[in-house]
Amino acid sequence: MTSLTAAIPTVILFPLLMLAAFMIVYLIETVAYYSRAGWYYRTGPAILRERWQSAANAEQVREIIRPLLRADQLVGRESADGFQFRQRAASVNAWTRIHLWFENTERGVALHYEVRPFYSMGLLLFPIVWLSSGAFGMRGLTLVWSAGLTAFVFAGYKWIMPWDVARMNRLPTVRRALAPFGLSVCERCGYDLFGHSTASRCPECGSDSPPP
Ligand SMILES: [Zn+2]
Repeated sequence: MTSLTAAIPTVILFPLLMLAAFMIVYLIETVAYYSRAGWYYRTGPAILRERWQSAANAEQVREIIRPLLRADQLVGRESADGFQFRQRAASVNAWTRIHLWFENTERGVALHYEVRPFYSMGLLLFPIVWLSSGAFGMRGLTLVWSAGLTAFVFAGYKWIMPWDVARMNRLPTVRRALAPFGLSVCERCGYDLFGHSTASRCPECGSDSPPP
């Protein structure tokens, strides 16, 4: 066994083993996702979490969002607390899952917009990091590097991969449809502009995106 693995150069063997590990975790996660979708969408750290206030009530919000998600060709489901959805698999988005849930407040309904990754995708970073660290002669740091980079991507997701956030663009059709109920969100940073409808500049990031 030792001679067999020794015959294969480590530079090939190690990424292959990592890829195998990734496939196993990916398979487990896929099964968990399809059998426990609701649980899956609500669990684990969110890589993007925003709260948008509106003056609508929960039933109004549901009736507005329901057809919009279909029109945007998003797949998912509706549950007691809100909506869970993702882009169609055909759009090569194995990455994000979105949980949009409601909270009744004194002023109406607040929408919580939460984006979570398909977690096993993080493991794909391991072979990439390992190969890079090998190229720079830092193989001893592989595990630390891989764990560190994965944590870094999770923590800084919205800055590292703004295009993935922009692709969903904070659900523009949903935001526009709820604008008559006072819902207003800064397109650039996601700051809740509820009650700031007359301001032309976001108080958080200074972006001058006009209110819808
Ligand atoms: Zn802003």
